[in-house]
Amino acid sequence: ERLTNQIAAGEVVERPASVVKELIENAIDANSTQINILLEEAGLKKIQVIDNGTGISPEDAESAFKRHATSKIHSRDDLFRIRTLGFRGEALPSIASVSEITFETATENASQGTYLYLKGGKIEENQPSVLRQGTKIIVENLFYNTPARLKYVKTLQTELAHIGDIVNRLALSHPNVAFYLVHEGNQMLSTSGNGDLKQTMAGIYGVQTAKKMREIQAQDLDFKIHGYVTLPEVTRATRNYLSTIVNGRYIKNFALNKAIVNGYGSKLMVGRFPIAVIEIEMDPLLVDVNVHPTKQEVRLSKEQELTTLLSKTINERLREENL
Ligand code: ADP
Ligand code: MG
Repeated sequence: ERLTNQIAAGEVVERPASVVKELIENAIDANSTQINILLEEAGLKKIQVIDNGTGISPEDAESAFKRHATSKIHSRDDLFRIRTLGFRGEALPSIASVSEITFETATENASQGTYLYLKGGKIEENQPSVLRQGTKIIVENLFYNTPARLKYVKTLQTELAHIGDIVNRLALSHPNVAFYLVHEGNQMLSTSGNGDLKQTMAGIYGVQTAKKMREIQAQDLDFKIHGYVTLPEVTRATRNYLSTIVNGRYIKNFALNKAIVNGYGSKLMVGRFPIAVIEIEMDPLLVDVNVHPTKQEVRLSKEQELTTLLSKTINERLREENL
């Protein structure tokens, strides 16, 4: 069991940013409206995530660290209309198998919460904790028992950049959640959580940049598109500023990124990319999130129809600006 978890960890927990991603996704799935993330040494020494979500009852707290103990899928049918970010029940046992974890959780109105301490995936302490609704998880000394994995970790600066990137995208895909990210006392990100995508973008890319972005909107029988794109003169040298969100889930999809760029036609300078945040709503049956354990790559049915609609929408919006 513990070996299986360590092997699974190799797929789910590539680097500190993967841990941050899984913990935040759990907080979001628990209906949190405020998520605070505190880091030390780019997460290698310490990752602390505090949420105000539903919490877990004392009876169920330990089972959260058992393999495939997801509370989110109840039937085979559920697999085909996944709305939660997690569903494999792999993240917590995988992370626990390669770190030390302090876990405190309490449900609303519970007379007491639960405190767990785990090392290398083994539960070493289980005690009642003082009442407080939500969950606080501290992951320390990541990869302490898997030196091979530790060797693949890059410089702290690189790892921190990966964390910043993933938290940005999770914040963009959840404008109704207030995110607060701090690394060794330095605030990296703070979003209001008031539900407004444009304000969330301002919290991430800066007020000036957000002001220069244009809203796009389109709909056909299968897809609903809404988002913001920069004018061609406000561009970046990397693709990292292209964010695509399908049914509330941030995804990586090469074809969609290409469709955004294509929408600019020849107006973009070679090698430059716009900043774009695109929300897409579609029938969950058209989305296959079961492609990869990290659930970032998804397969989309009718992808061609969607990319054509997206390019066309951006193109027409820019033309309205006489570009
Ligand atoms: P998954 O998210 O795929 O279900 P995880 O291993 O990430 O699997 O989490 C296991 C279970 O622990 C979840 O299904 C959920 O019931 C519970 N859980 C984890 N984190 C939280 C949290 N922050 N708040 C409430 N419940 C949580
Ligand atoms: Mg999860």
